[in-house]
Amino acid sequence: MANPLLVNVAELTRRAGSEKLIDVAVDVNHFDFDDQRVTATEIPIRLHLESVNGGIAVRGELSMEWSDQCSRCLKPVQGVATTVVNELYQQVVTDPDAYEIVGEQLDLSPMVREVLLLELPTLPLCAPECPGLCTVCGADLAVAPCNCAPVEKSSPWDALDALKGRLSND
Ligand SMILES: [Zn+2]
Ligand SMILES: [Zn+2]
Repeated sequence: MANPLLVNVAELTRRAGSEKLIDVAVDVNHFDFDDQRVTATEIPIRLHLESVNGGIAVRGELSMEWSDQCSRCLKPVQGVATTVVNELYQQVVTDPDAYEIVGEQLDLSPMVREVLLLELPTLPLCAPECPGLCTVCGADLAVAPCNCAPVEKSSPWDALDALKGRLSND
């Protein structure tokens, strides 16, 4: 299968300021994400390439659908990861963050894969205020409170709180 994200940049590199728009929907299998959170079947790629001093600037926005479990209550959650792309490709890589132009070709695939994977939430929540599950009985506290005693959480502030309590009691 031809790589839809392999772009010949011979024309672009010839003259600074030259531009090219890549607008294509790519089958998700092309990226080999190997990540079960990815539920998108196609990734719309709309990126703007511009010949700049020292390389080709690639700009645009990417998004991808995902699904996962709430990190607190384990309910299924889904969303769309969206990220702004502002990357540089260079024939001779001098910028540590730049991607390489090989010959006269630039492959957008590894970059797209990388930025989208980075955008997937590591601790997704079904709701920002999700109370999660009781750590004792496993009850979903969003449904109903359970009868377990509240678990003592220790934090660096506990000692301070205790001290404050004592001072105000005196
Ligand atoms: Zn939740
Ligand atoms: Zn409980």
